[in-house]
Amino acid sequence: MLQKLEGLKTTLWTGLAVSLTFAFAFYLQNKWQVKLALIEQVLYGILAVGILFSAQFSRTRITLLLIALSLFYLVKQGVIAGNSWLNANQQWLFVAVIFALAYLILIKDRGLLSIHGVMRLIGLTLCLGLAKGWLYAVDWLVQYNQQQPFIAFDIGAMVVLLPLYAVALFILYQSLRKPALFASSVLTSLVITNLFYQQQLTMPLSVLLSLIAIQYILVVVIDSYYLAYRDELTSLPSRRALNQYALSLGRKYCVAMIDIDHFKKFNDTYGHDIGDQVLKLVASKLATIRAGGRVFRYGGEEFTAIFPRKTAQDVIAELERLRQDIADYKIVIRQPLRKTKKARQGKTSNELKTVSVTISIGVSTRSVKESFEQTVKQADLALYRAKKKGRNNVSD
Ligand code: GH3
Ligand code: MG
Ligand code: MG
Repeated sequence: MLQKLEGLKTTLWTGLAVSLTFAFAFYLQNKWQVKLALIEQVLYGILAVGILFSAQFSRTRITLLLIALSLFYLVKQGVIAGNSWLNANQQWLFVAVIFALAYLILIKDRGLLSIHGVMRLIGLTLCLGLAKGWLYAVDWLVQYNQQQPFIAFDIGAMVVLLPLYAVALFILYQSLRKPALFASSVLTSLVITNLFYQQQLTMPLSVLLSLIAIQYILVVVIDSYYLAYRDELTSLPSRRALNQYALSLGRKYCVAMIDIDHFKKFNDTYGHDIGDQVLKLVASKLATIRAGGRVFRYGGEEFTAIFPRKTAQDVIAELERLRQDIADYKIVIRQPLRKTKKARQGKTSNELKTVSVTISIGVSTRSVKESFEQTVKQADLALYRAKKKGRNNVSD
């Protein structure tokens, strides 16, 4: 159950960050109230920067969203002539945007100027059609209800709120299922839109939109950071983060190289997908490292732990603890039953099985005048000795 809620943390953090920002904005009201004219101008800059920045990083969904926000703002400001068509169709467009948000959650960031762009255009047009259909349906229901009352609440008043709540629930589900800053941010935007629509959020539009636009720019920044410095499979800091971190190390530290034993054979036996799951579990165990250590994914089934201001002697006990912890860990896997009668009849069935893996560790203290790369090399040699000693042990 909890594994299905991987996105809980991201969703909660995003919600908390946005709530705090708004609380802070209200607290500072007196400061910005006098500068509203300036904020109205600055917002154009924020939106322009956001659009260019997200486009540069190929975050097309954020670009689309910011373009939509800009258009909305331009219309509200009367820069795009308060044209009668827009006014007459406000409700329709609003509902279409809500549907479009649900659509954006389902698609991936892909180039707009490609075949995907055409598909996206069709998708967004469908949202317009769907919204139109919804408005017609509500009209019809309202009329029908007047003749033969069968719905107790005023459905006409819910014409916008019902899709808004439905889409918000859908996005909540998506954002809990998988960690994604974009989905969590859209969710918070929907909550804000709802409060604003119900006039419970008394804030000038320019301030509100500035905060929302800045949030999406931050999403691009934070996601790019994670892309560069976090390993996608294990969520551990990546090799690039290790190299960056190495630059900040002082003269005294030690390095441990950690390698899963016979992992090639494990993959061959259970398949690459189960191999990936095991890699994730081993990484999550390694992430519990203490004694001031930090773990990185070095590459493949190899990890590196760095202990600043420590010698190998200081940390061997902790490395032993990790090694033992992983060796004792019974990993439950689901293995499809093959060659059974059921399977031959085309029925799928799973067999629960427990497996375990071991790790070998080589550790080396930095000696005088040694470069980081040289210490890593020494730790690698120690790892080689650990493997030779029969694996599942720590060598220095
Ligand atoms: P040793 O005990 O000597 O370390 O043996 P080994 O089989 O673990 O070592 P080797 O370096 O020959 O093989 C490493 C294997 O790790 C090869 C590859 O199949 C597997 N591997 C590397 N990266 C990944 C990954 O991201 N996912 C999965 N599933 N397997 C990986
Ligand atoms: Mg290896
Ligand atoms: Mg190995």
